[in-house]
Amino acid sequence: MHKFDYVKARSLEEALRALSQGGEKACALAGGTDLLVGFRAEDARLRHIELVVDIGDLTELAYIREENGCVALGALTTHAAIAESSLIRVAAPFLATACSQVGSPQIRNRGTVGGNLCNASPAADTLPVLVALEAEVVLRSLGGERRVPVSRFVEGPHRTGLRPGELVTEVRFNRPLPGSRTCFIKLGRRKAMSIARLSIAVLLRTGDGGVVEEIRLVPGAALPVPARVTAAEEILRGQGLTVELAREAGEKLAQEMVRITGQRWSTPYKVPAIAALTRRAILTAGGLEDVATRSQA
Ligand SMILES: Cc1cc2nc3c(=O)[nH]c(=O)nc-3n(C[C@H](O)[C@H](O)[C@H](O)COP(=O)(O)OP(=O)(O)OC[C@H]3O[C@@H](n4cnc5c(N)ncnc54)[C@H](O)[C@@H]3O)c2cc1C
Repeated sequence: MHKFDYVKARSLEEALRALSQGGEKACALAGGTDLLVGFRAEDARLRHIELVVDIGDLTELAYIREENGCVALGALTTHAAIAESSLIRVAAPFLATACSQVGSPQIRNRGTVGGNLCNASPAADTLPVLVALEAEVVLRSLGGERRVPVSRFVEGPHRTGLRPGELVTEVRFNRPLPGSRTCFIKLGRRKAMSIARLSIAVLLRTGDGGVVEEIRLVPGAALPVPARVTAAEEILRGQGLTVELAREAGEKLAQEMVRITGQRWSTPYKVPAIAALTRRAILTAGGLEDVATRSQA
């Protein structure tokens, strides 16, 4: 296996100092569920790494809290902790759902939200949800702190805006307005241990007479970076939610995916699959699930 120096940080300050000294050749180790697999597989993206800074013991980075309507997750919060959090289950239930479906119990107990973000896999389960929540990443370095929207932090498959010497310390989002409903559906290859082949995160809020006031649609593993598909959202905004409109929005989202990514070997499978997932997720979030099921029968 690839050889590197290893430092176990005992404080955030110590971690930032080690990362700063290591510069481009250093990286953080959180739960290790991506990084150690990458080292074992001799992943070319890790070939330059000469220093690994273990931040796994920094318990001050493992928290879930809410202050003045802003929900904050420490970078070391595990998928299991998020899935089980009563705050998250109420404030952003689709985030709890997404985290509950990551890998296996062992992976959920070790894997962290910060690691999921920084690994930036197109199939990462928390990313579409965090983009739908318009979440921000909080980054710390010896030089100070900066905040970047998740939608800009992820720059491409396995590529982020993390700078040398920086650590993600927190992910935060405003609690969705009262009346917001959410849904996350993932289509995995296998039920357990599945890395998402396709997923969809939906946040929907209806007003008087069931008119859609807020709609955010973010597919996972469908685009080079997780992003809202506004052309599909526009079909629903300002309209009363119906099965037909949800179907149209699903089809539009699939068309947008093809427009952005072009035709690939997987396109004939992905187009109907993402269209159907999107329709189902919109209807589930809108409380029309039964109607949709009956209409397909
Ligand atoms: C069998 C298996 C199944 C899996 N299934 C899923 C799945 O269903 N869905 C899914 O989304 N993922 C899945 N994963 C991937 C992985 O578990 C997640 O991406 C996890 O959240 C990574 O977190 P970690 O703490 O283990 O990250 P690590 O492996 O420790 O780190 C990952 C990357 O992020 C960097 N990093 C970590 N924390 C920070 C930080 N705070 N600041 C700066 N950089 C940081 C590291 O340097 C590294 O580059 C699976 C992995 C395995 C092995």
